[in-house]
Amino acid sequence: MICTHCGGPLTSTRVSRPYAEVGLSNVTLMNVEVRLCRHCRGREVVLPCVEQLHDRIAHAIVLQPVALTPAAIRFLRTWLGLSCQDLAALIGVSRETAFRWERQDKWYPMRCSADRLLRMLVASRKAVTVDPVDFLRVPPESEARPIALCAPTWELVGYGPALGGAAPAGRKNRART
Ligand SMILES: [Zn+2]
Repeated sequence: MICTHCGGPLTSTRVSRPYAEVGLSNVTLMNVEVRLCRHCRGREVVLPCVEQLHDRIAHAIVLQPVALTPAAIRFLRTWLGLSCQDLAALIGVSRETAFRWERQDKWYPMRCSADRLLRMLVASRKAVTVDPVDFLRVPPESEARPIALCAPTWELVGYGPALGGAAPAGRKNRART
């Protein structure tokens, strides 16, 4: 492997890192390959199968029994391939309301019915096999749980109070499929 900037040799290392690129502060990517160039100090993060990674994250977000945060709403909307306007039309709110849901500076929470409808939209996609009963019946918690996924296949390895913790009772199998 050689550096694409200077042609120098690259060394490879594996790290755990937050997935800051998508703005989700509770998502950690584990065993991620980082290639370093000693000559130019360049750094290359290797994220294989990004589509699969995003499918798994969408799956995990939908099953979390917490109100959808602005970052989670944005992630799910873009994962669905929708604009804010599209989402507003599908859920039956004004475009302004849909914009406000994603505001980072001032949280304007979704109504419970809109939250469920967005999760249903995600659950209706083939890439995410979720039984809606799993999230419609669960009472909301106050804080998002950490989500940890392991490269290269992005297996869900942590989904609980702490990284590596167990999945919520009764949902372990589904959360890990
Ligand atoms: Zn270099």
